[in-house]
Amino acid sequence: GLQCGIVGLPNVGKSTLFNAISSGKAEAANYPFCTIEPNVGVVTVPDERLDTLEGLVKPQKVVPTIIEFVDIAGLVKGASQGAGLGNKFLANIREVDAIVHVIRCFEDDNIVHVEGKVNPVSDKEIIDAELQLKDLESVDKKIQRIAKAAQVGDAKAKAELEVLKRYKTALEAGKSARTVQATPDEQEAISDIALLTVKPVIYVANVDEGSLPNGNAYSDTLREAVKDEGAEVIIISAGIESQISEMEDPEERELFLGEYGLTESGLSKLIKASYKLLGLITYFTAGVKEVRAWTIHRGWKAPQAAGVIHSDFEKKFIRAQVMKLPDFEQFKTEAGVREAGKLSVEGKEYIVQDGDIMEFLHSA
Ligand code: GDP
Repeated sequence: GLQCGIVGLPNVGKSTLFNAISSGKAEAANYPFCTIEPNVGVVTVPDERLDTLEGLVKPQKVVPTIIEFVDIAGLVKGASQGAGLGNKFLANIREVDAIVHVIRCFEDDNIVHVEGKVNPVSDKEIIDAELQLKDLESVDKKIQRIAKAAQVGDAKAKAELEVLKRYKTALEAGKSARTVQATPDEQEAISDIALLTVKPVIYVANVDEGSLPNGNAYSDTLREAVKDEGAEVIIISAGIESQISEMEDPEERELFLGEYGLTESGLSKLIKASYKLLGLITYFTAGVKEVRAWTIHRGWKAPQAAGVIHSDFEKKFIRAQVMKLPDFEQFKTEAGVREAGKLSVEGKEYIVQDGDIMEFLHSA
């Protein structure tokens, strides 16, 4: 599945947040096939459209999409040189699709801050620097590897070398690889070295409960510091999230959220933001047996989208029937949508849109 790795300095609230994520067990129970390792939590992606579909179709069951979060503990200053869990930690990050960077924005004299005092921007820079140093190592290694070929005139090596040097310059200047402007073709030059700082990132400002819903001076400085990265900053109180995750009754949850001026849990915001960050969209299948959300990448064509249900659906794809949710809501039934002329039949080149309700026709 798609994975987000939770990183941050020690004592910033990663485990608290992770526990809140992974204790949403009631929802994850819909996924009999998911094995949950101690540091991997599976969470369902909240989607109001599923509720709408459930109301219209009255299916026997509803299956949301999921996303995985991995608690990556052990990053400390010097990790790139092997301190703490060092390289093991960094190898874990290599495997995730996106990074959730948790930053301490709460004061509490009882909880030691590893760097002595709460300072979100310098905390962020410490983590970034470790990852960047590791990336610089990877880039340097590849430069060494291809330098000779480039020298003797190998065109591909020369082109790659030019791109790698841009990454090197950025990393040496304390910038993350994701800030380097490179075309998809150029990015090929780094695709084999799995850089850490090229992965998309979301910042989580972990604030005390009194700083909900809009954050505090700490989270404001963080927001200011990352504003050029185009990354989202989500305000969360990990302690409050863990309390919310214990509540099974939706009404109780809502009341509790209301007390803190929230309309939605921080976790729900984080999950949605992660989904978006990964470039994922959802299409639905809506049968009476099952209403289900399916995860695909933006830009996928109908056969590829069908393939996430079953590989045969892709291979034997004939055509797809597509309904839009607003039409379904208006006309109530598939027959109604068809009569209104709003049911479209699409072929192999159709690019599936977020929220499409799909039915695939395939050969036997
Ligand atoms: P990790 O090392 O990043 O995984 O941090 P933990 O989740 O273990 O949290 C470290 C300590 O900070 C624990 O005692 C948590 O209960 C506490 N903590 C986490 N989030 C908050 C918060 O928002 N406010 C306060 N006051 N304490 C928190």
